[in-house]
Amino acid sequence: MDKDLYSVLGVGEKATEDEIKKAYRKLARKYHPDANQGDKRAEEKFKEISDAYDILRDPEKRARYDDVRSGRAYFGGGGMPGGGFETPGGGFEGFEDLLSSLFGGGIGRSSRRQTPSGEVEVPFATAALGGRVEATIRLSRSCAVCGGAGGTGEKTCQACKGSGRRTEKRGAFSTMHPCPVCGGRGKVLTSACSSCGGTGRTTSNDRMIVDIPPGSSDGDLLRLRQPDGSSAILRLRVPPDRFFRREGLDIHCTITISAPRAALGTTMMIRTLEGRIKLRIPAGTQPGTVLRVPSRGVPSGGSRGDQFVHVEVSIRPPSGDSERRLWEQLLDHEGRVRRRREAD
Ligand SMILES: [Zn+2]
Ligand SMILES: [Zn+2]
Repeated sequence: MDKDLYSVLGVGEKATEDEIKKAYRKLARKYHPDANQGDKRAEEKFKEISDAYDILRDPEKRARYDDVRSGRAYFGGGGMPGGGFETPGGGFEGFEDLLSSLFGGGIGRSSRRQTPSGEVEVPFATAALGGRVEATIRLSRSCAVCGGAGGTGEKTCQACKGSGRRTEKRGAFSTMHPCPVCGGRGKVLTSACSSCGGTGRTTSNDRMIVDIPPGSSDGDLLRLRQPDGSSAILRLRVPPDRFFRREGLDIHCTITISAPRAALGTTMMIRTLEGRIKLRIPAGTQPGTVLRVPSRGVPSGGSRGDQFVHVEVSIRPPSGDSERRLWEQLLDHEGRVRRRREAD
Protein backbone atom coordinates (compact mmCIF):
# COMPACT_ATOMS: atom_id res chain seq x y z
CA MET A 1 0.00 0.00 0.00
CA ASP A 2 2.44 2.65 -1.11
CA LYS A 3 -0.58 4.38 -2.56
CA ASP A 4 -1.79 7.60 -1.08
CA LEU A 5 -4.91 6.92 0.98
CA TYR A 6 -6.55 10.13 -0.15
CA SER A 7 -6.09 9.23 -3.82
CA VAL A 8 -7.38 5.73 -3.12
CA LEU A 9 -10.68 7.30 -2.08
CA GLY A 10 -10.38 10.04 -4.70
CA VAL A 11 -10.66 12.88 -2.22
CA GLY A 12 -8.48 15.85 -1.39
CA GLU A 13 -6.36 15.97 1.74
CA LYS A 14 -8.68 18.60 3.16
CA ALA A 15 -11.79 16.45 2.62
CA THR A 16 -14.36 16.54 5.41
CA GLU A 17 -15.48 13.41 7.25
CA ASP A 18 -18.67 13.56 5.25
CA GLU A 19 -16.91 13.78 1.91
CA ILE A 20 -14.70 10.85 2.85
CA LYS A 21 -17.73 8.81 3.90
CA LYS A 22 -19.54 9.61 0.66
CA ALA A 23 -16.51 8.78 -1.49
CA TYR A 24 -16.03 5.52 0.38
CA ARG A 25 -19.67 4.49 0.01
CA LYS A 26 -19.64 5.18 -3.70
CA LEU A 27 -16.46 3.19 -4.32
CA ALA A 28 -17.45 0.39 -1.96
CA ARG A 29 -20.68 -0.10 -3.88
CA LYS A 30 -18.82 -0.19 -7.18
CA TYR A 31 -16.13 -2.65 -6.09
CA HIS A 32 -18.09 -4.73 -3.62
CA PRO A 33 -17.32 -8.46 -4.09
CA ASP A 34 -21.04 -9.21 -4.35
CA ALA A 35 -21.28 -6.99 -7.39
CA ASN A 36 -18.07 -8.31 -8.96
CA GLN A 37 -18.29 -12.08 -8.60
CA GLY A 38 -14.84 -13.63 -8.99
CA ASP A 39 -13.16 -10.43 -10.12
CA LYS A 40 -9.81 -10.51 -8.32
CA ARG A 41 -8.89 -6.95 -9.16
CA ALA A 42 -12.19 -5.60 -7.85
CA GLU A 43 -11.65 -7.59 -4.69
CA GLU A 44 -8.20 -6.09 -4.18
CA LYS A 45 -9.52 -2.67 -4.93
CA PHE A 46 -12.32 -3.18 -2.41
CA LYS A 47 -9.82 -4.13 0.27
CA GLU A 48 -7.67 -1.12 -0.57
CA ILE A 49 -10.69 1.19 -0.29
CA SER A 50 -11.78 -0.34 3.01
CA ASP A 51 -8.29 -0.03 4.47
CA ALA A 52 -7.98 3.57 3.39
CA TYR A 53 -11.39 4.36 4.83
CA ASP A 54 -10.52 2.63 8.09
CA ILE A 55 -7.76 5.13 8.66
CA LEU A 56 -9.24 8.30 7.17
CA ARG A 57 -12.60 7.94 8.92
CA ASP A 58 -10.96 8.02 12.32
CA PRO A 59 -9.77 11.54 13.21
CA GLU A 60 -6.99 10.21 15.42
CA LYS A 61 -5.66 7.75 12.87
CA ARG A 62 -6.05 10.29 10.12
CA ALA A 63 -4.00 12.87 12.00
CA ARG A 64 -1.22 10.37 12.49
CA TYR A 65 -1.40 9.31 8.87
CA ASP A 66 -1.19 12.95 7.82
CA ASP A 67 1.97 13.25 9.87
CA VAL A 68 3.41 10.18 8.20
CA ARG A 69 2.33 11.38 4.79
CA SER A 70 3.82 14.82 5.14
CA GLY A 71 7.06 13.43 6.51
CA ARG A 72 6.56 15.03 9.91
CA ALA A 73 6.79 11.70 11.63
CA TYR A 74 10.20 10.26 12.12
CA PHE A 75 11.28 6.87 10.91
CA GLY A 76 14.30 4.93 11.91
CA GLY A 77 16.89 3.77 9.43
CA GLY A 78 18.19 7.13 8.29
CA GLY A 79 14.88 8.78 7.63
CA MET A 80 13.75 6.12 5.24
CA PRO A 81 10.10 5.25 5.56
CA GLY A 82 10.24 1.92 7.27
CA GLY A 83 8.09 -0.52 9.07
CA GLY A 84 7.79 -1.74 12.58
CA PHE A 85 8.98 -5.07 11.33
CA GLU A 86 12.32 -5.82 9.90
CA THR A 87 12.57 -8.56 7.34
CA PRO A 88 15.20 -11.24 7.80
CA GLY A 89 17.14 -9.50 5.04
CA GLY A 90 17.39 -6.49 7.27
CA GLY A 91 15.36 -4.13 5.14
CA PHE A 92 12.12 -2.52 6.11
CA GLU A 93 8.92 -4.05 4.93
CA GLY A 94 7.41 -0.77 4.06
CA PHE A 95 4.76 1.70 4.52
CA GLU A 96 1.85 -0.63 5.16
CA ASP A 97 3.54 -2.23 8.11
CA LEU A 98 4.50 1.13 9.45
CA LEU A 99 0.86 2.09 9.38
CA SER A 100 -0.04 -1.22 10.95
CA SER A 101 2.38 -0.72 13.76
CA LEU A 102 1.29 2.86 14.25
CA PHE A 103 -2.41 2.27 14.08
CA GLY A 104 -3.28 -1.35 14.31
CA GLY A 105 -1.95 -1.92 17.70
CA GLY A 106 0.21 -5.03 18.00
CA ILE A 107 2.38 -2.46 19.63
CA GLY A 108 1.30 0.03 22.24
CA ARG A 109 -2.26 -1.16 22.05
CA SER A 110 -3.03 -0.53 25.68
CA SER A 111 -2.51 3.19 25.27
CA ARG A 112 -4.74 3.31 22.22
CA ARG A 113 -8.01 5.08 22.83
CA GLN A 114 -10.98 2.99 21.80
CA THR A 115 -12.71 4.33 18.77
CA PRO A 116 -16.21 3.32 17.66
CA SER A 117 -16.29 0.30 15.40
CA GLY A 118 -19.64 1.20 13.97
CA GLU A 119 -22.57 3.51 13.95
CA VAL A 120 -26.19 2.62 14.24
CA GLU A 121 -29.22 4.75 13.57
CA VAL A 122 -31.78 4.61 16.34
CA PRO A 123 -35.31 6.03 15.93
CA PHE A 124 -36.07 8.85 18.35
CA ALA A 125 -38.67 6.93 20.35
CA THR A 126 -36.49 3.81 20.59
CA ALA A 127 -33.60 5.89 21.94
CA ALA A 128 -35.87 7.50 24.52
CA LEU A 129 -37.71 4.37 25.63
CA GLY A 130 -35.06 1.76 24.97
CA GLY A 131 -35.49 -1.15 22.59
CA ARG A 132 -33.72 -3.20 20.01
CA VAL A 133 -32.28 -2.29 16.64
CA GLU A 134 -30.48 -4.32 14.04
CA ALA A 135 -27.05 -3.03 13.10
CA THR A 136 -24.17 -3.92 10.83
CA ILE A 137 -21.01 -3.50 12.78
CA ARG A 138 -17.45 -3.69 11.66
CA LEU A 139 -16.10 -5.81 14.45
CA SER A 140 -12.47 -6.01 15.22
CA ARG A 141 -11.25 -9.23 16.75
CA SER A 142 -8.01 -10.42 18.11
CA CYS A 143 -6.27 -12.29 15.26
CA ALA A 144 -6.77 -16.02 15.70
CA VAL A 145 -3.53 -16.94 13.94
CA CYS A 146 -1.07 -14.91 16.01
CA GLY A 147 -3.27 -14.57 19.07
CA GLY A 148 -3.21 -10.80 18.73
CA ALA A 149 0.56 -10.44 18.98
CA GLY A 150 0.83 -9.26 15.38
CA GLY A 151 3.74 -11.55 14.59
CA THR A 152 6.47 -13.68 16.03
CA GLY A 153 9.99 -13.23 17.33
CA GLU A 154 11.45 -10.19 18.93
CA LYS A 155 14.57 -8.23 18.32
CA THR A 156 15.98 -4.91 19.40
CA CYS A 157 14.48 -1.96 17.59
CA GLN A 158 17.13 -0.48 15.32
CA ALA A 159 15.54 2.93 15.21
CA CYS A 160 16.04 3.61 18.90
CA LYS A 161 18.70 0.99 19.59
CA GLY A 162 16.37 -0.56 22.12
CA SER A 163 15.94 2.52 24.29
CA GLY A 164 12.29 2.98 23.25
CA ARG A 165 12.92 6.71 23.09
CA ARG A 166 13.75 9.18 20.42
CA THR A 167 15.48 12.46 21.13
CA GLU A 168 14.70 15.43 18.97
CA LYS A 169 17.02 18.42 18.91
CA ARG A 170 15.48 21.85 18.53
CA GLY A 171 18.23 24.42 18.78
CA ALA A 172 19.59 24.29 22.29
CA PHE A 173 16.80 22.07 23.52
CA SER A 174 16.21 18.44 23.00
CA THR A 175 12.93 16.69 23.66
CA MET A 176 12.22 13.03 24.21
CA HIS A 177 9.42 11.06 22.61
CA PRO A 178 8.48 7.41 22.54
CA CYS A 179 10.08 5.72 19.53
CA PRO A 180 7.44 5.67 16.77
CA VAL A 181 8.83 2.50 15.23
CA CYS A 182 8.57 0.25 18.29
CA GLY A 183 5.99 2.31 20.16
CA GLY A 184 8.41 2.76 23.04
CA ARG A 185 8.93 -0.95 23.70
CA GLY A 186 12.48 -0.97 22.40
CA LYS A 187 11.74 -4.19 20.59
CA VAL A 188 10.17 -5.07 17.28
CA LEU A 189 8.74 -8.32 15.97
CA THR A 190 10.90 -10.16 13.50
CA SER A 191 8.11 -11.32 11.26
CA ALA A 192 4.62 -10.00 10.79
CA CYS A 193 1.63 -12.31 10.93
CA SER A 194 0.40 -12.73 7.36
CA SER A 195 -3.18 -13.27 8.45
CA CYS A 196 -3.65 -9.88 10.08
CA GLY A 197 -0.79 -8.03 8.39
CA GLY A 198 0.86 -7.44 11.73
CA THR A 199 -1.99 -5.52 13.27
CA GLY A 200 -2.98 -8.30 15.65
CA ARG A 201 -6.61 -7.67 14.74
CA THR A 202 -8.91 -8.89 12.02
CA THR A 203 -12.16 -7.21 11.09
CA SER A 204 -15.45 -8.43 9.72
CA ASN A 205 -18.88 -6.97 9.14
CA ASP A 206 -21.41 -8.60 11.42
CA ARG A 207 -25.14 -8.14 11.67
CA MET A 208 -26.26 -7.90 15.25
CA ILE A 209 -29.30 -7.12 17.32
CA VAL A 210 -28.34 -4.34 19.68
CA ASP A 211 -30.11 -3.54 22.94
CA ILE A 212 -30.57 0.20 23.27
CA PRO A 213 -30.89 1.35 26.88
CA PRO A 214 -33.70 3.82 27.72
CA GLY A 215 -32.67 7.46 27.69
CA SER A 216 -30.03 7.03 24.98
CA SER A 217 -29.00 10.13 23.05
CA ASP A 218 -27.38 11.00 19.76
CA GLY A 219 -23.62 10.44 19.95
CA ASP A 220 -23.80 8.04 22.88
CA LEU A 221 -21.25 5.28 22.80
CA LEU A 222 -22.43 1.79 23.53
CA ARG A 223 -20.01 -0.90 24.59
CA LEU A 224 -20.80 -4.29 23.09
CA ARG A 225 -19.33 -7.49 24.37
CA GLN A 226 -17.92 -9.55 21.56
CA PRO A 227 -17.96 -13.32 21.52
CA ASP A 228 -14.20 -13.42 22.15
CA GLY A 229 -14.62 -11.39 25.34
CA SER A 230 -13.24 -8.16 23.96
CA SER A 231 -15.54 -5.21 23.51
CA ALA A 232 -16.55 -3.09 20.58
CA ILE A 233 -17.81 0.47 20.73
CA LEU A 234 -20.89 1.48 18.82
CA ARG A 235 -21.88 5.09 18.27
CA LEU A 236 -25.60 5.84 18.32
CA ARG A 237 -27.03 8.23 15.80
CA VAL A 238 -30.44 9.52 16.80
CA PRO A 239 -31.94 11.73 14.09
CA PRO A 240 -34.02 14.63 15.39
CA ASP A 241 -37.75 14.01 15.41
CA ARG A 242 -40.05 16.41 13.54
CA PHE A 243 -42.39 16.61 16.51
CA PHE A 244 -40.52 15.69 19.69
CA ARG A 245 -37.62 17.44 21.38
CA ARG A 246 -35.81 15.98 24.37
CA GLU A 247 -34.78 18.01 27.38
CA GLY A 248 -33.30 15.70 29.94
CA LEU A 249 -36.03 13.23 30.79
CA ASP A 250 -38.80 15.45 29.47
CA ILE A 251 -40.26 15.50 26.00
CA HIS A 252 -41.43 18.75 24.49
CA CYS A 253 -43.64 19.25 21.47
CA THR A 254 -45.57 22.07 19.89
CA ILE A 255 -49.08 22.01 18.51
CA THR A 256 -50.94 24.78 16.73
CA ILE A 257 -54.68 25.26 17.15
CA SER A 258 -57.05 27.71 15.50
CA ALA A 259 -58.29 30.83 17.31
CA PRO A 260 -61.90 29.52 17.72
CA ARG A 261 -60.59 26.28 19.24
CA ALA A 262 -58.37 28.23 21.62
CA ALA A 263 -61.37 30.33 22.65
CA LEU A 264 -63.88 27.48 22.96
CA GLY A 265 -61.56 24.75 24.18
CA THR A 266 -61.20 21.42 22.40
CA THR A 267 -59.74 17.94 22.59
CA MET A 268 -56.95 16.80 20.29
CA MET A 269 -55.14 13.57 19.57
CA ILE A 270 -51.44 14.15 20.10
CA ARG A 271 -48.41 11.95 19.59
CA THR A 272 -46.55 10.57 22.58
CA LEU A 273 -43.53 8.27 22.50
CA GLU A 274 -45.98 5.36 22.72
CA GLY A 275 -48.79 6.22 20.37
CA ARG A 276 -51.48 8.86 20.48
CA ILE A 277 -53.45 10.11 23.44
CA LYS A 278 -56.41 12.45 23.78
CA LEU A 279 -55.43 15.85 25.19
CA ARG A 280 -57.99 18.31 26.54
CA ILE A 281 -57.27 21.93 25.73
CA PRO A 282 -59.24 24.22 28.05
CA ALA A 283 -61.39 27.13 26.83
CA GLY A 284 -59.48 30.41 26.67
CA THR A 285 -56.06 28.83 26.07
CA GLN A 286 -53.51 31.58 25.39
CA PRO A 287 -50.77 31.27 22.76
CA GLY A 288 -47.62 29.96 24.47
CA THR A 289 -49.55 27.92 27.04
CA VAL A 290 -47.70 24.78 28.10
CA LEU A 291 -49.77 21.73 29.03
CA ARG A 292 -48.18 18.94 31.00
CA VAL A 293 -48.90 15.29 30.25
CA PRO A 294 -47.47 13.43 33.22
CA SER A 295 -45.20 10.40 32.87
CA ARG A 296 -45.00 10.37 29.10
CA GLY A 297 -41.32 11.30 28.97
CA VAL A 298 -38.12 9.28 29.16
CA PRO A 299 -38.00 6.46 31.72
CA SER A 300 -35.24 6.61 34.29
CA GLY A 301 -34.94 4.28 37.24
CA GLY A 302 -38.48 3.70 38.46
CA SER A 303 -39.86 7.02 37.26
CA ARG A 304 -40.42 8.87 34.03
CA GLY A 305 -40.18 12.38 32.70
CA ASP A 306 -43.23 14.28 31.45
CA GLN A 307 -44.38 15.44 28.07
CA PHE A 308 -44.92 19.17 27.70
CA VAL A 309 -47.23 20.35 24.97
CA HIS A 310 -46.61 23.93 23.88
CA VAL A 311 -49.76 25.39 22.36
CA GLU A 312 -49.53 27.95 19.58
CA VAL A 313 -52.63 29.69 18.28
CA SER A 314 -52.87 30.39 14.59
CA ILE A 315 -54.41 33.80 13.91
CA ARG A 316 -54.83 34.53 10.22
CA PRO A 317 -56.93 36.81 8.04
CA PRO A 318 -60.46 35.51 7.29
CA SER A 319 -60.36 33.11 4.34
CA GLY A 320 -63.59 34.34 2.76
CA ASP A 321 -66.61 36.58 3.07
CA SER A 322 -68.59 34.28 5.36
CA GLU A 323 -65.66 33.90 7.74
CA ARG A 324 -65.14 37.67 7.69
CA ARG A 325 -68.84 38.21 8.59
CA LEU A 326 -68.50 35.79 11.55
CA TRP A 327 -65.50 37.70 12.93
CA GLU A 328 -67.35 41.00 12.34
CA GLN A 329 -70.33 39.68 14.30
CA LEU A 330 -67.99 38.82 17.17
CA LEU A 331 -66.51 42.29 17.01
CA ASP A 332 -69.97 43.94 16.96
CA HIS A 333 -70.97 41.79 19.91
CA GLU A 334 -67.83 42.82 21.79
CA GLY A 335 -68.65 46.49 21.10
CA ARG A 336 -72.24 46.12 22.34
CA VAL A 337 -71.05 44.42 25.53
CA ARG A 338 -68.55 47.22 26.19
CA ARG A 339 -71.09 50.00 25.57
CA ARG A 340 -73.61 48.29 27.86
CA ARG A 341 -70.93 48.11 30.60
CA GLU A 342 -70.06 51.78 30.12
CA ALA A 343 -73.79 52.72 30.30
CA ASP A 344 -74.29 50.89 33.61
ZN1 LIG B 1 -2.24 -12.21 13.22
ZN1 LIG C 1 12.29 1.89 18.87
